[in-house]
Amino acid sequence: DAPRPSNFLRQIIEHDLARGTDTARRWVGHPGEGSVQAAGGPDPARIRTRFPPEPNGYLHVGHAKSICLNFGLARDYGGVCHMRFDDTNPEKEDEEYVRSILDAVQWLGFSWEGTLGGKPVSHLYHASDYFDFMYRAAEYLVETGHAYVDEQTPEQMRAARGDFNTPGTESPYRHRSPAENLARLREMRAGLHPDGAMVLRAKIDMAHPNINLRDPAIYRIRHATHHRTGDAWCVYPMYSFAHPIEDALENITHSICTLEFEDQRPFYEWTLERIVPILRAPQFEAARAWIEKIEAQGLEAGKEFALHCHNHADRLWASEAEGRMRALFARWEHDREAVLRDLPEFFALLKTQPEQFTPLLAHALDIERPNPFLLPRQHEFARLNLTYVVTSKRKLAQLVNEARVSGWDDPRMPTIVGLRRRGYTPEAIQLFAERIGVSKSDSWIDYATLEACLREDLEHKAHRGMAVLDPVKLVLTNWAEVFGSDDYLEDCTQPALPHAAIAEGQTPPPERVFKIGREVWIEREDFEAVPPKGYKRLYPPRPGADGQMQPGNVVRLKGGYVIECTGCVKDATGQVTEVHAKVIPGTKSGTPGADSVKAKAAITWVGVADGVRAEVRLYDRLFTDPHPDAGGKNFLDALNPDSLKVVTAYVEPSLAAAKPDEKFQFERHGYFVADRADHGVDGKLVFNRVTGLKDSWAK
Ligand code: ATP
Ligand code: MG
Ligand code: MG
Repeated sequence: DAPRPSNFLRQIIEHDLARGTDTARRWVGHPGEGSVQAAGGPDPARIRTRFPPEPNGYLHVGHAKSICLNFGLARDYGGVCHMRFDDTNPEKEDEEYVRSILDAVQWLGFSWEGTLGGKPVSHLYHASDYFDFMYRAAEYLVETGHAYVDEQTPEQMRAARGDFNTPGTESPYRHRSPAENLARLREMRAGLHPDGAMVLRAKIDMAHPNINLRDPAIYRIRHATHHRTGDAWCVYPMYSFAHPIEDALENITHSICTLEFEDQRPFYEWTLERIVPILRAPQFEAARAWIEKIEAQGLEAGKEFALHCHNHADRLWASEAEGRMRALFARWEHDREAVLRDLPEFFALLKTQPEQFTPLLAHALDIERPNPFLLPRQHEFARLNLTYVVTSKRKLAQLVNEARVSGWDDPRMPTIVGLRRRGYTPEAIQLFAERIGVSKSDSWIDYATLEACLREDLEHKAHRGMAVLDPVKLVLTNWAEVFGSDDYLEDCTQPALPHAAIAEGQTPPPERVFKIGREVWIEREDFEAVPPKGYKRLYPPRPGADGQMQPGNVVRLKGGYVIECTGCVKDATGQVTEVHAKVIPGTKSGTPGADSVKAKAAITWVGVADGVRAEVRLYDRLFTDPHPDAGGKNFLDALNPDSLKVVTAYVEPSLAAAKPDEKFQFERHGYFVADRADHGVDGKLVFNRVTGLKDSWAK
């Protein structure tokens, strides 16, 4: 693989990793050196990212960028990416979306399964699993004077917030005592008040220039059933409060989000700084439990602990205390007695400095190692804006609900299920995400870039085949004369992948076999009764400049014979119903005489004898405007009336054997996929056009 281009996020991560172990020492509150190295050197720090969708809709191509980014960074730096459902908004969320999101991430080629200390772990998380802790954090903020319950109406609160030019005004409820606030918060939690009656707000600064810091709401009342927690809660955290807590509890190191959250970053940091004392509570508790056990049970528990730590010695973190610990247990194998002799001193240290040992103990107890970079940090990147599509969930839902498309997975939709059904591959989408990169400023990416990535991927994968999309019958009138019978059929072969498309080390697939006979289907546009200037395909004999009759044009049926056009049959309306030609014997492709007669062009065709009827759905862009919803435009006005044309085509037998989801290049027409949903149903063949061979929309 080519080295991946750097970007500002990679630079941040590389910088953080370089200083990661120092930071780890700071976290455990110890500047110690020496013994760490002596004990075998520090472990490499690991990054942790996350992809945190709200399960309130289907993912789209913008989410795909975020997935590739977060999972890709974790992969490239030996870290972990968490799959997390940000399910703090009960009314809008549903299990259907949960399933579709998991499916989309897996399909894109990413996994949330990992290992911890050699054991498999799943990094699939739900914000709703932290409701207890989030509520505990809310109470903690109240107790420490950093939050209050506001009983103003939503209108009053909005009016009191001020705006960019005007400072806000403080709520009359702002100066209640922590005890009074706590009582109110518990009433909220107990369900004693209706939705909207009061909210819990952070107590920051009503005059802050950043309006997000003017006492933002952090908990609200919602008497709603949650798809996972049911009716256990009637208060739910606001996104901006929940998110930093989710990140911190999961030891996320780099919390990567889109630019619109930049103004929220100060509140993200404000929240974390204030709840640090309770954040590591589970680990502190685990440490305390070990110490208590050792105190109560003495050396026996000490041995158990020592053995446990020894088994996990490779996972010890690099503080001086842990270095000591590692050094101690390094002697276990050959001098067990000495270890047991030194243990009491070690436990004394453990007891006086439990916090220093906490990360270590967390480890020994199979609790995840704390984030070595202290607290998660938020970093923002520019969201993906793709031309010719809309990515707002609301607008996508409108397209579905108004039946402008057939569903979320309509092949014209920019949803991941839509792209998949259209025939996009995970590799193409990953390539796209890589190629567009990440930046700090908003810009538009041309849809053609996405299509180009697909062509690049399918070039080496999609087997070739011939399909006639607008068929007219071609009759080789001298067939019986040349081959002895009108029913004579002859095998033709062509490579499934042309030589140039076979990648290094790739085994060439078996050749395609199809039959040529007296009648074949050709494209209607490959015959002109009166050819325009420069036309090289089939046209009948016609008078030349000197008045003499010139013969009809000579063309090769690709992979078959060279033929000479002799005329056509038209119906009453003037429509051509049959094209006539003569086959020129001895000119078959791949035989010594192939070049004996020069053809002006080669055209694609499908035999009438072995061609199979297929429904072909010619998809095009859903919108004609590159920015359908920009500047207050109604995006529905830009719907492309020709975004779907359905035709009945004939395809060669190799294509008739297609399995759902299999991709092909229909020679000269572009890339097609056997429809995932409809292909094969009742024996019917259904193909979707993914994209043409060239960008036909280029400006
Ligand atoms: P909504 O439309 O309801 O506001 P959303 O589009 O923000 O939702 P989420 O489910 O919150 O969707 O998104 C999950 C992640 O995907 C977020 O981290 C978000 O930043 C990222 N994301 C969403 N849209 C894009 C986009 N166009 N480009 C890049 N990342 C995106
Ligand atoms: Mg969102
Ligand atoms: Mg959004």
